[in-house]
Amino acid sequence: VEQKTADLLDEVRGALQACGVEASALQGSHPVHTPVTGQQLLSVEPHSAGDVTEMIDQAHAAFKTWRDVPGPQRGAVVKRWGELIAQHKSDLGTLVRAEAGKIVSEAEGEVQEMIDICDFAVGQSRMLYGKTMPSERAGHRLMENWHPLGVVGVITAFNFPVAPYAWNTALALVAGDPVIWKPSEIGVLSGMATNALLGRAMRDCGAPEGVHHLVVGDREAAQPLLDDRRVELVSATGSTRMGREVAPRVAGRFGRYLLELGGNNAAIVTPSADLDLALRGIAFAAAGTAGQRCTTMRRLIVHESVADELVEKLRRAYETLTIGDPGDSGVLVGPMIHQQGFEGMQAALEAAKSQGGTLVTGGQRVLADKYPEAYYVEPAIIRMPEQSAVVCEETFAPILYVVTYRDFDEALELHNGVPQGLSSAIFTSDQAEAEVFLSARGSDCGIANVNLGTSGAEIGGAFGGEKDTGGGRESGSDAWKVYMRRSTNTVNYSGELPLAQGVEFI
Ligand code: NAD
Repeated sequence: VEQKTADLLDEVRGALQACGVEASALQGSHPVHTPVTGQQLLSVEPHSAGDVTEMIDQAHAAFKTWRDVPGPQRGAVVKRWGELIAQHKSDLGTLVRAEAGKIVSEAEGEVQEMIDICDFAVGQSRMLYGKTMPSERAGHRLMENWHPLGVVGVITAFNFPVAPYAWNTALALVAGDPVIWKPSEIGVLSGMATNALLGRAMRDCGAPEGVHHLVVGDREAAQPLLDDRRVELVSATGSTRMGREVAPRVAGRFGRYLLELGGNNAAIVTPSADLDLALRGIAFAAAGTAGQRCTTMRRLIVHESVADELVEKLRRAYETLTIGDPGDSGVLVGPMIHQQGFEGMQAALEAAKSQGGTLVTGGQRVLADKYPEAYYVEPAIIRMPEQSAVVCEETFAPILYVVTYRDFDEALELHNGVPQGLSSAIFTSDQAEAEVFLSARGSDCGIANVNLGTSGAEIGGAFGGEKDTGGGRESGSDAWKVYMRRSTNTVNYSGELPLAQGVEFI
């Protein structure tokens, strides 16, 4: 295992160097572990809250220059960044695999999302459109302009160490905002590489200094981002617990926040569903990424007439999943991030059993003899007699709870009967059921899919969820607007002064 860690470290050092991270940055008191072996790879220097306040000073000063750079020129920086990310796709993929334990195709898929959002943002940089509305008054023009907002603080989670940062940053940069990023303390290396590539893009394009910053540290280091009035927007991805701490702090100073918090995503499988298609959609969404996606499918709400057949198909499919080193070809399920994650899974399985659940498959730790410090698990399926307390929580692990339903309204009620509201799916061949699921009385989630799983969103749509998921939207559609402020302007060219609503005054 030591040899495995040493080999991975060689790969990691090579990737960091290729992306332009100085070797001198790779020492300090903040340890970086890999979930692949559970061992320490290296350490880096953490920032203090004081360092972060200095970054805010610099970013705030840089804003005064950056906001005046025309949108399309800001877009050129993002274009260059996207090119560099594409050039270093496999380096960044290596770092994501080493830090988050994702299999190669998923790690590189995460990097592809960064490339995609850069493309999207470059186009957006020429489309920061405001509307012109007909004025009530003759000789007046009524319009809105979108202006840069100011410094944006981005806080991200361990399981997507780079893509959500890029979703935020590509748009924030074209919107004219400087960005200060605090990645998860568990995954800083891919962050350092991403930041180094952005630095290179900035230099290549002659952009001003101080527009982007990276904070290495835990939640303490993030505190100035929450409290400093100069940070106009805090965009935070992570657990609902984190959101509950962050939101009131930022709101207390009337700052803006964008929250992307936990999910408890379900699929409804109706009697008319194509079960083989559903099987593939469910297996990837529930067991992929070792159940550590915010959009992981955690609940299956199956019509009682097809439940036994579907569960049996899933059980057989689960037993073919190869679990192991995410760098090995053929492996589909990598490790859990750490011991606490594994223990959380075991506790949830125990709770589920005590709430009447019957384990169908999985749940065991594997490869413990080979990697005693790493936590590989068999993804679990557990049938539940009802949607009990444990099913209503997000356990960040590969557990799929199965409940059955009789009539469609009951299925919808179960579906929406949890506190979270991120992603959702229905498998059906009945068009009316699909439409109801997408309608106002259907799924209450930010993402609702028909005949595909809950995970793996494209960047073109707005991403995010309702209720305990926090209500934020990032990435595509009109999510760019949150990074800008709207100014409504009226121009009077009539030579007279008619007041609105016919009001008469001097
Ligand atoms: P976490 O909440 O432990 O940490 C997320 C980030 O928030 C880290 O950078 C952490 O340092 C920071 N943080 C935590 N408490 C803070 C505080 N009080 N003040 C400031 N910063 C604080 O989450 P995690 O374990 O890294 O990630 C898993 C969770 O993230 C899951 O709940 C998952 O569903 C969620 N997630 C959501 C999305 C989404 O887009 N909705 C995406 C990825 C992950």
